[in-house]
Amino acid sequence: MLTVTTKSDLRQALQKIRLSDEKIGLVPTMGNLHEGHLRLVRAALAERQYTVATIFVNPLQFGKNEDLKNYPRSLESDKSLLEETGCDLLFAPDNSEMYGSAGSIKTSTIVPSLAQNHCGKTRPKHFEGVATVVTKLFNLILPHHAYFGLKDFQQYRIIEQLIADLDFTIQLHGLPIVREDSGLALSSRNSNLSSKQRLIAPALFQQLQQTAKLIQQGNQEFRKVEKDAKHSLKAKGMMPDYFNICDARSLELASHNDKELVILAAAFLGDVRLIDNVTLKI
Ligand code: AMP
Repeated sequence: MLTVTTKSDLRQALQKIRLSDEKIGLVPTMGNLHEGHLRLVRAALAERQYTVATIFVNPLQFGKNEDLKNYPRSLESDKSLLEETGCDLLFAPDNSEMYGSAGSIKTSTIVPSLAQNHCGKTRPKHFEGVATVVTKLFNLILPHHAYFGLKDFQQYRIIEQLIADLDFTIQLHGLPIVREDSGLALSSRNSNLSSKQRLIAPALFQQLQQTAKLIQQGNQEFRKVEKDAKHSLKAKGMMPDYFNICDARSLELASHNDKELVILAAAFLGDVRLIDNVTLKI
């Protein structure tokens, strides 16, 4: 695997590939890689693409009081994992390479209607930061395919919209959530959970499943169901941020006419913020 840290080395490496018939598949990450990330890499490799992973802890998507400093970083072991998986190229720039030495970026990508609720409510600039860095990576790498996890469902929808609205000719792939046996969705942030918190953390997915079951059984009192779910998470020791039953396309709170739903949830365990979701058809 080739590792590059500058845009010019990245462009140079990809130029050769672009002249061949090979398709380029992109897997953007913030590192501290786990099986959820590696499945994305494997999906690109399975399609015989020249597979480019990126590792960049993007400061634009962290709020002032968020965990940018404590975000787990493990570049050397990430490199080994990517290498073992068969990844072709790693782009791991630093902040000044991405945004200029004084962080001088003045342009941003925003997808307001999809970004304002759920995670966007608690993290107002988060999706602007995500959409901006993804736009830059799309322009730098010019991938034919891009791989994202459905664990970040709201993010996936935003990227899907961004690709359509800005005319990127990129085929987007959304891959299913990879979970521990306990049901807890794999996340880089899980490594910041204490052993006690790790025992509580699966409650988030359990609650999502219970709520999905209630809805499948015909309960359409969505707002009451959401409220009950938050109470139950609190009782289990989590501090719910949101628990919203939504239309899976618009991400607006669901009403009785909606048939394809997603239940989006985020909850704190101490300082660690976990997100998860389930989709369902009624
Ligand atoms: P991150 O490093 O957290 O920015 O994640 C990079 C990519 O991996 C995103 O597209 C995430 O949605 C995806 N991802 C992270 N965790 C999981 C998981 N447990 N299952 C599937 N995809 C995941």
